[in-house]
Amino acid sequence: MPKPKLFIPGPVDISEATYEAMRQPIIGHRGADFEELYASIQPGLRQIAGTSRPVFLSTSSAWGVMEGAIRNLVQKKVLNLCCGAFSDKWHSVAKSCGKEAEKIQVEWGEAIDPAAVEARLAEGGFDCVTLVHNETSTGVMNPLAEIAAVVKRFDDVLLVTDTVSSFSAVPTPVDDLGIDVLLAGVQKALALPPGLSVFTCSEAALERAASTPDRGYYFDFVEFAKNDAKNNTPSTPAIALLYALKQKVDEILAEGLEARFARHERTNAQVHAWGDKHGIANFAPAGFESRSLTCFATPEGLDLPGFIKTLRSRHNFLINGGYGKIKGTTFRVSNMGNETEATMQELLDAMDDVWSEVVASA
Ligand SMILES: *Cc1c(COP(=O)(O)O)cnc(C)c1O
Repeated sequence: MPKPKLFIPGPVDISEATYEAMRQPIIGHRGADFEELYASIQPGLRQIAGTSRPVFLSTSSAWGVMEGAIRNLVQKKVLNLCCGAFSDKWHSVAKSCGKEAEKIQVEWGEAIDPAAVEARLAEGGFDCVTLVHNETSTGVMNPLAEIAAVVKRFDDVLLVTDTVSSFSAVPTPVDDLGIDVLLAGVQKALALPPGLSVFTCSEAALERAASTPDRGYYFDFVEFAKNDAKNNTPSTPAIALLYALKQKVDEILAEGLEARFARHERTNAQVHAWGDKHGIANFAPAGFESRSLTCFATPEGLDLPGFIKTLRSRHNFLINGGYGKIKGTTFRVSNMGNETEATMQELLDAMDDVWSEVVASA
């Protein structure tokens, strides 16, 4: 079978221009060529992140930096904001790192309430909060600005935000919102092959890291900062992926950030309209829907495995049949990365083509 075009919420479809960029000769990473490459990516990446500070490059998937943030920043106790598979797991990861951790848990499909965060932080004892901005498992986008404003009111509490599936798809302005660490893996909203993550680190977060014992080496934020000052990374980076990142950042700036945000809003609305047409409900509550993917509640009478299978065998498109404990009761369609109204329409037409065969007629 040919490889399907990916409309799952990560990894997503990679452009030919990105594959082409990765074909460039590998260079030594302790030399001028590499420093030049590293430096050339920074301005664009900082612009996308909305920060004047460096954006570090970690040769790992997002979980490396998510765990690293815990190891670097938590000295007293972390508050994990849990609303789905990724945010829930972050809480278990914090505990497995031997840290004291508490959580605010909402039902999957609900968003985090900033007032609840405020009330819990007011109890005291916390020095870090983890937030998954766009909970990819449920299609819920949390109110980032409101939660960041709450955390800012508490001195010495650092905010770590996972934007794996929202970075560059919607605004996540690090400096304006006062986000201490913002992180993203590149295989979702950035539409690059997996294996690389990007992250920012505030002055306060770096100071915290410097005084945290046992933070290890590979994800030591202080090492990242030291090497960044020389346009370099602590260990050998995924150089081919850095070529890809350079290509992507240039492409994003050429399109324009605002235009990119608007494109994601339009393609997401297209998917929502498809759901409305078929009377399918969004799993996320109104006002908190992700703009880079859509998580639908599986309607009664839909043969979901048959739907996904026929979409693939007849049209060579792959969508996702739900994640974790909502596998089967939900399904997800990604519009993140390179997709346009035209490419989304091809998918939605294919979904229409298959629909009547997989839904029990009333
Ligand atoms: C995919 C995803 C992750 C995990 O990324 P890995 O690349 O598997 O480490 C974390 N958070 C969110 C929101 C995700 O969508």
